[in-house]
Amino acid sequence: MNCIHCDRSAHANCRFCGRAVCKDHLQEMPYIVELYTGEDGDQKAIVVPNAIYCGICKPRERPVPMPELK
Ligand SMILES: [Zn+2]
Ligand SMILES: [Zn+2]
Repeated sequence: MNCIHCDRSAHANCRFCGRAVCKDHLQEMPYIVELYTGEDGDQKAIVVPNAIYCGICKPRERPVPMPELK
């Protein structure tokens, strides 16, 4: 698999969309692993602060409702 930016050997895959990126082009982006509601009723998130990001896709900060999947 080659980097989608420069077509050289990729070193990682975007955590969000799976595109391959080399180490020159990989970026970092916080990634929400899990959302849950705390005992106080507040929504909380477990976040990886430096997940691999390709720089192309547009991950949303919040999960998008997908009612059509139900
Ligand atoms: Zn590259
Ligand atoms: Zn991506």
